[in-house]
This record gives sequence, structure tokens and C-alpha cells, in this order.
Amino acid sequence: MTKKKKTVGKTDADVILIGAGIMSATLGVLLKELEPNLSIEIYERLDIAAAESSDAWNNAGTGHSAFCELNYTPEKKDGTVEIKKAIQIAEHFEVSKQFWAYLIEKGLISNPENFIRKIPHMSFVWGKKECRLS
Ligand SMILES: Cc1cc2nc3c(=O)[nH]c(=O)nc-3n(C[C@H](O)[C@H](O)[C@H](O)COP(=O)(O)OP(=O)(O)OC[C@H]3O[C@@H](n4cnc5c(N)ncnc54)[C@H](O)[C@@H]3O)c2cc1C
Repeated sequence: MTKKKKTVGKTDADVILIGAGIMSATLGVLLKELEPNLSIEIYERLDIAAAESSDAWNNAGTGHSAFCELNYTPEKKDGTVEIKKAIQIAEHFEVSKQFWAYLIEKGLISNPENFIRKIPHMSFVWGKKECRLS
């Protein structure tokens, strides 16, 4: 039996983004800034946008600058700390901040204080010793 290929529709859009989360929103804005004439369509399976991981209640809401997320600075067997990944992530975060600053300058983000702000952070770590079951 030959399987019939399901056709779901046609579009003339230059770009199709699947899923209306933060990634499609960011990529869509980036593409539009680079090429304003692009036609972009975003398809979302739910009835509202950003209801999965991008929903504020479904993630921790921190900017990954790598200065506090300890998984980016694993301890090596010799006891020293590997910082290669942290530097890479910190660099990426700087680029993100430049992008957001650009969007603020252009008026595309109207209330930056509602979107991003600095807060003090403390990393609290329990080691193997403290977690030992008695
Ligand atoms: C518990 C948790 C904590 C996190 N904490 C942080 C944090 O502190 N800082 C940080 O930067 N990141 C954090 N993240 C990661 C961050 O939330 C995600 O990387 C980000 O939201 C992913 O965005 P996205 O647009 O790729 O995915 P999503 O926001 O999940 O969007 C994907 C969309 O695609 C839709 N979709 C899926 N399949 C289809 C389909 N076939 N057709 C149409 N639509 C479809 C979904 O319905 C959804 O709306 C966290 C994630 C989790 C789960």
C-alpha cells in the first residue's frame, strides 16, 4: 500500500516559523530588522502564544549570564574549575543585551524595566558531605 502524502496547505511566505515562543519571536524580529520586506508566518498549535517554556511561570526567568549558574563552571577531577563554557555563555549574553538595547532604542521594547533588571544573586551549594544520609 502506498502512503498518501498529506498536504496541509500552501504559503507564499518567505519564512515560516513553527511555534510562537521566544525563539520564533526573536528570530522573526532579527530577520525583519535585517530584511524588512520579508514576509514571515508563525504557526502555533495552541490558541495563545508563548504558553509553553516561554511562559513566565514555566521558566526561572533569569538571564543566563553564566556568572551564577554553576553548571557552567564544573569542577574538574583535579579540583580546579572549568570556566570555558561560562565565558562562552557570558559572551552570548552580552550579545543578547546589545540586541535588547537596540530594540529599546528603536522603541520595539517599550518598558525595559518590565522586561529585564539586575537583581542580587547568591549561589547556595550543598556538597556531598552535607548531603550524606545518616
Ligand atoms: C523549568 C525551566 C526553567 C527555565 N529557566 C530559564 C531561565 O531561567 N532562563 C532562561 O534563559 N531560560 C530558561 N529556560 C529555558 C527557556 O524557557 C527556553 O529555552 C525557551 O523558553 C524556549 O523557547 P522556545 O521558543 O524555543 O520554546 P517554547 O516557548 O516552548 O515555544 C515552542 C512553541 O512551539 C509550539 N509548538 C510545538 N510543536 C508545534 C507544532 N508542531 N506546530 C506548531 N506549534 C508547535 C509550542 O506549543 C510552543 O508554543 C527554562 C526552561 C524550563 C523548562
